[in-house]
Amino acid sequence: MKALHFSEQDLMVPHMTTAKYNWLELTPQEFRERIADAPIAYLPMGTLEWHGEHLPLGTDALQPIHLFGKLAELNGGVVMPTMFVGPDIAHAHNGEWYYGMDNGDKRPAHLSYPRQQLAGSAYWTSDDVFQPLMDSILTQVHRAGIRILVAHGHGPSTGYLIRKREHWEKEYGLKIFHCWEWEDSGADKELSFQTGHAGINETSLILAIRPDLVQRERLGDDREQFPIGVGPDDPRDASSVLGEKIITYQVERMSTILQKALAHTNND
Ligand SMILES: [Zn+2]
Repeated sequence: MKALHFSEQDLMVPHMTTAKYNWLELTPQEFRERIADAPIAYLPMGTLEWHGEHLPLGTDALQPIHLFGKLAELNGGVVMPTMFVGPDIAHAHNGEWYYGMDNGDKRPAHLSYPRQQLAGSAYWTSDDVFQPLMDSILTQVHRAGIRILVAHGHGPSTGYLIRKREHWEKEYGLKIFHCWEWEDSGADKELSFQTGHAGINETSLILAIRPDLVQRERLGDDREQFPIGVGPDDPRDASSVLGEKIITYQVERMSTILQKALAHTNND
């Protein structure tokens, strides 16, 4: 193999001049510096899943990837590659499996529709697979020097994290956060991050983050026809203005939480 020669110019790397925060792009030295500065990792949790006829199949990942980039720029830390596999409900019927939103018959009456395979879903996994994956990841992020983990995205993955949070915090020596604020009494419900399923909240967020990926015309104009596989409200009432408002609010709210957690970590 030919030896590599670097000129002096090549070796003059500017020291942390840009906000480089994606774990997969960092050199070991950049990783060390960012972790020494703020031992935070952000884990977007996605899946590939039907989000109505109007939104992309990666909707669940696009939202936290965007928010976490902003949080990492402001508060430091590293954004992990998306955990794309995630759990959800699964029901067998006549020898076929139906996952998540396929199960329209399990929805509240006013949102229900016949059970069917909705187009484009993949990356569902059982809890039995998800649990050991999370165990491995949490063990290793702690080993890598992370002390604060923010994970959010696909509803059932975030829900799983919330159920296990206390146990995982103790087990893996981490402080764990998500971006839902049920615990936060002063929270403004309209400004929650990534709630419902392809309704006003998620559609507004994608309109703010990647308007080029939203095809509202696919929903039609007939208000009597509520689109299937979305809810709890009508995505035709979504707006990029609301999406921007949610992002601004959540960046501020999560930054306050993270700064407190960092101060606590530094005092330990
Ligand atoms: Zn979603």
